Amino acid sequence: MSLGFVPTMGNLHAGHLSLVEQSVRENEKTVVSIYVNPRQFGPNEDFDQYPRTLDADKALLSQYDTVTVWTPGTTDIYPLGPSNAYGITVPKAIAQHWCGKSRPHFFDGVCTVVFRLCQQVNPTRLYMGEKDYQQYAIIHALMQDYQLPITVVPCPIVRNADGLAYSSRNQYLSPAERVHATQLYRAIQAAQTTVTEGETNPAMVIKKCQTYLGNPLKIDYIGIADPLSLQPIDRDIHSNDRLMLAAYLGKTRLIDNYQF
Ligand code: AMP
Repeated sequence: MSLGFVPTMGNLHAGHLSLVEQSVRENEKTVVSIYVNPRQFGPNEDFDQYPRTLDADKALLSQYDTVTVWTPGTTDIYPLGPSNAYGITVPKAIAQHWCGKSRPHFFDGVCTVVFRLCQQVNPTRLYMGEKDYQQYAIIHALMQDYQLPITVVPCPIVRNADGLAYSSRNQYLSPAERVHATQLYRAIQAAQTTVTEGETNPAMVIKKCQTYLGNPLKIDYIGIADPLSLQPIDRDIHSNDRLMLAAYLGKTRLIDNYQF
């Protein structure tokens, strides 16, 4: 029997549900976990404020006959407590840029929890959103490195009608910030057009994007990454390279990416 697994932190939206639906299509059974993992939040991050909407999440998932919802408690995942837990350290190369640079230890926390969740679920396939592209690439490498027989399935980014990728953190945005948030997608579209028109120089494409990411957005990072190593490219842009973007709107950090 094939078993699909969709790890989430809950507060489910259309992005999460697309992963669930892909798993439901491809597997006889699917487990969706809902667990806000303390190990992946920094001391000044939003662990306490992170939206927890368990009843609504369960109601959304009840439409799928083959889905089991798993809501572990912290002692189920970390029997010795989160700070005493043995952890995975992600190799420097793949985590030194992009989100790994802005959020040190974030990917260690993500790998530690995904590894522990997978140990208990024992899935055939693990569904990860490309919205968090570096996270997908790191988990893919983790499974390869531990030689675990779990296929990591990348799932396309799901966007609102105006292009903003769905994210649980979008609800932190004020109405005015929500309007400005679409600049990220406009920057992506500009990059796409620039490359389609023949530009292959990464610096030129990045410069074009930057013109769309002005006030009140504050760029956290912008660059073009090799899709496997996640290193910023120092050559012409190839297809499959990833434009990587993160920006702050007020206190809210938004991320997005695009595959050329
Ligand atoms: P989270 O609950 O934020 O940890 O997300 C759980 C999973 O859903 C991760 O694999 C995310 O990459 C994925 N995900 C979140 N938002 C989106 C989106 N807009 N499109 C596709 N996948 C998403």
